[in-house]
Amino acid sequence: MAKLYFRYGAMNSGKSTALLQAAYNYEERGQRVLLAKPVIDTRGDASIVSRLGMVREADFVIGADEHLRSRFADERDQLQLRTGQDAACLLVDEAQFLTVEQVDDLLRIAVLDDVPVLAYGIRTDFQTRAFEGSGRLLEVAHSLEELKTICRCGRKAIFNGRKINGEFVFSGDQVAIDGDDVTYESLCASCYLQESNGVLEP
Ligand SMILES: [Zn+2]
Repeated sequence: MAKLYFRYGAMNSGKSTALLQAAYNYEERGQRVLLAKPVIDTRGDASIVSRLGMVREADFVIGADEHLRSRFADERDQLQLRTGQDAACLLVDEAQFLTVEQVDDLLRIAVLDDVPVLAYGIRTDFQTRAFEGSGRLLEVAHSLEELKTICRCGRKAIFNGRKINGEFVFSGDQVAIDGDDVTYESLCASCYLQESNGVLEP
């Protein structure tokens, strides 16, 4: 039986870099992998972009309400037709944006279809609440691994502060992709509470 792994961290903790490294490790041994990401992240469309500058196209983009287990089965079949090889694992970037049902499918893919699933994502949003996909992954993954990054003060960062035009904000929509106006800073709990004046829940 294969397992479902959730590797989580704050923003800028190198999740996409770790994912691309994991893919490389499989491929170096002559194995094939499938890379997927949810549609909601608009950065580079199907591209998985690491902060170190590595870019790779996802093999498929997961639709907002798509039945993930059957989509994976289709992609696995196509890979076998194309290459004659089975998928050695499924790698999912930005897994925080999956639905509960899609994460349940990841568990089914691992356990019932016997393909290891490595999901990478952010644990909590800018208001310290779990994303839907992350919350479910924390509940059902066989293995949890934290990818660490450092706050500006040197402590381990666990939260994601949102800034608009350089100012921290603590209310707004859960999802606002970083761009010209919106940026994020990974913060430790101490610095987060300092910036929010002690507020955790809006
Ligand atoms: Zn700090």
